Amino acid sequence: MTDVPEIPVRVRPEIAALPPYKQGKQAGSDAFKLSSNENPFDPLPGVLEAVRSASALNRYPDATAARLRERLAARFGVPSEQVHIGAGSVSILAQLVLATSGPGDEVIFAWRSFEAYPWLAVLAGATPVMVPLAEGARHDLQAMADAVNDRTRAVIVCTPNNPTGPIVTQAEFDAFVERVPSDVLVILDEAYAEFVTDPTSVDGIRVLGNAGHQNVVVLRTFSKAYGLAGLRVGYAIGHPRILDAARSASIPLSVTAQAEVAALASLDAEAELLERVSVIARRRDALVAALRDLGWAIPDAQGNFVWFPLGEETLAVAERFERAGLIVRPFAGDGIRVSVGEEESVEKVLGIAASVVQDLPEGHVGRGLA
Ligand SMILES: *Cc1c(COP(=O)(O)O)cnc(C)c1O
Repeated sequence: MTDVPEIPVRVRPEIAALPPYKQGKQAGSDAFKLSSNENPFDPLPGVLEAVRSASALNRYPDATAARLRERLAARFGVPSEQVHIGAGSVSILAQLVLATSGPGDEVIFAWRSFEAYPWLAVLAGATPVMVPLAEGARHDLQAMADAVNDRTRAVIVCTPNNPTGPIVTQAEFDAFVERVPSDVLVILDEAYAEFVTDPTSVDGIRVLGNAGHQNVVVLRTFSKAYGLAGLRVGYAIGHPRILDAARSASIPLSVTAQAEVAALASLDAEAELLERVSVIARRRDALVAALRDLGWAIPDAQGNFVWFPLGEETLAVAERFERAGLIVRPFAGDGIRVSVGEEESVEKVLGIAASVVQDLPEGHVGRGLA
């Protein structure tokens, strides 16, 4: 039993069964918010200025954000028909799932991975098929390919995997795509691509350059590396007709003029923004190394976050972080994701992590073999 009141109207049963939305903890003014993988740097002045001078608020935005599409097309060396802009890449994910999958269809993804995936499949009326992560909290692409059948309409690959951190390698991805039927959509969710430093990583843009993989759509976002989470703008690159299908499943005019110009200004300042990204990546690598030295079994981290495998201890440990002024993202029964944030937050994370690891029982998943 729960204390949630009945819904007063008839709602699709699979939607009614979803847990009601719970707002995440708001950080107090002295707390570090490390729960949403946001960029800790303030927006660049040029980006703020562009937003301020964007077109009038009484006008609708340009329906396809054509200037941004063209700019990204030039950036990645593809025709602009192969670029689609959305109000965050999550909205494009929703469009792609809606466009491909309905009742009786299956959407495959790894688990644990991005929380939106099961929800988007259910929203479309399709069946989520969750393939457990392999050793090291990595995608098991063999098992994911094995799970494909004639009901499969979409497979989502998240690299680096949110919330656990590891990448999929180019070799793994190439072998995987060879095994997926060419009429099944493969969504490569690269929300954290800019933070990746492992040279063996898959690169969606390179995948699209390989002729014969017309069923692959690459998703990227301005929310994380470019620090525009609050403005909602992301993009897809892929076959123009697949992107047409996504557009047909979209809510029109969702990408605001402000979001478009902020993305354009961010591309103008890309070198400076990517310098910040490399600061975060170095901070991440130092954090992972220090945690492993403390005895933690931290999976490879290639995004702007680290994963603490905590099992049953998850919620209690999240409390300890929060009491220390660190808002983190717990996944009950599984683990905690901590974003790599402000420099001063890292010492605090290490302080809590040092005391927690000593309390973990011998043989706990969070403990390394050392
Ligand atoms: C953050 C994130 C996204 C993108 O979010 P938007 O803000 O909607 O662009 C997509 N996929 C994953 C795995 C993410 O973590």
